[in-house]
Amino acid sequence: MKHIAILGSTGSIGKQTLNIVDQNKDELKVVALAAGSNINELEHQARKYRPSIVAVWDQEKAADLKQRLSDIEVDVYSGMDGLLAVATAEKAEMLVTAIVGMIGIRPTIAAIEAGKDIALANKETLVTAGHIIMPLAKKHNVRILPVDSEHSAIFQSLNGERGNKIDKIILTASGGPFRGKTYEELEKVTVEDALKHPNWSMGKKITIDSSTMVNKGLEVMEAKWLFDVSLGQIEVVVHPQSILHSAVQFMDGAIIGQMGTPDMRLPILYALFYPERRTLYAEELDLFSVGTMTFERPDMETFFGLSLAYDAADAGGNVPTIYNAANEKAVAMFLDGRISYVEIPEIIASSMMEVFYKENPTLEEILETEKATYEFIESRW
Ligand code: NDP
Ligand code: MG
Repeated sequence: MKHIAILGSTGSIGKQTLNIVDQNKDELKVVALAAGSNINELEHQARKYRPSIVAVWDQEKAADLKQRLSDIEVDVYSGMDGLLAVATAEKAEMLVTAIVGMIGIRPTIAAIEAGKDIALANKETLVTAGHIIMPLAKKHNVRILPVDSEHSAIFQSLNGERGNKIDKIILTASGGPFRGKTYEELEKVTVEDALKHPNWSMGKKITIDSSTMVNKGLEVMEAKWLFDVSLGQIEVVVHPQSILHSAVQFMDGAIIGQMGTPDMRLPILYALFYPERRTLYAEELDLFSVGTMTFERPDMETFFGLSLAYDAADAGGNVPTIYNAANEKAVAMFLDGRISYVEIPEIIASSMMEVFYKENPTLEEILETEKATYEFIESRW
């Protein structure tokens, strides 16, 4: 029996992780769950999975949930203390980080220090604090198992290749709903248009990020940390069918990749049972119905959020944090109807120029950078 804790259990990745638990009841046991504010769902999950700890970020909601769960044996926490309690839950061997945003960094660090393996969905963690997380994981001898589908595909492609040099990582992107559109066309994009992803069903923020290609930018940075390659070795390839989830090209020219349906439960399952494979009770990929797979170069001029990510990663220090924080803020403003769609990458670019630079930032400095970026944006827009 493997014991797991989940940060963000009420979200898209969190619920799909619980579906994998349902499919593997005899082998997976949930011991701790955390969410932001959705206590209806969390109450339902607590009753179904009987974890010993649940956490809700919102203090009042946590108090309400505690009342509601008074008939079962469970500790209810709130705020950062709650996230840390879930991340370090004694019985857990693995933490699934399915929380959204930089709020996930501290609990992930705490879990690593407590010796838990990490099934990492929260990409903000490596983007902003990869220089802290990767050495820490090495020091504590814990595994960072990628859940992001592209990184899982790369990870699977490297299986058995230990020591063989990577020539290039081929990071595939669907291109999102606006692939092929001109800048003038993007100026008219509405929130509703941007929330329609052609292949994947995901949380709101990442769906917008996929449409701007900022998600791919974040994934370039995530790949750099996970697989210890240079930026020049990471090539984004647009593949609208989302069948090849990413690949590795080796020195001899061989390209090894992983294909599958666009179903996040496969990378989740792989991370939970690595290095073993288990049955996924889901629709299988049918190559006959796929028929054709196509590949194109990304349009980094129109979708310049992607080229800004390369700039941010190249600058290093706290610049990836500025990139990420500016995007988080801009996406929230777009969803609130405060800015237009094309202002999202503009806000990221201005923030990267205006917010202070810090080399090798500590966790405190990363969080200060986030705050300074938010303040800069608030003062200008
Ligand atoms: P969702 O928005 O669907 O879910 C986010 C989860 O985080 C919810 O459970 C939410 O709780 C919880 N949460 C938010 N803020 C807090 C907080 N302060 N304290 C505790 N819990 C909090 O996001 P996704 O599942 O789509 O994405 C999660 C992460 O995984 C992101 O980093 C994303 O980039 C990454 N990812 C997602 C993929 C996908 O297919 N969805 C693919 C690859 C990576 P509540 O419901 O109460 O608000
Ligand atoms: Mg992805």
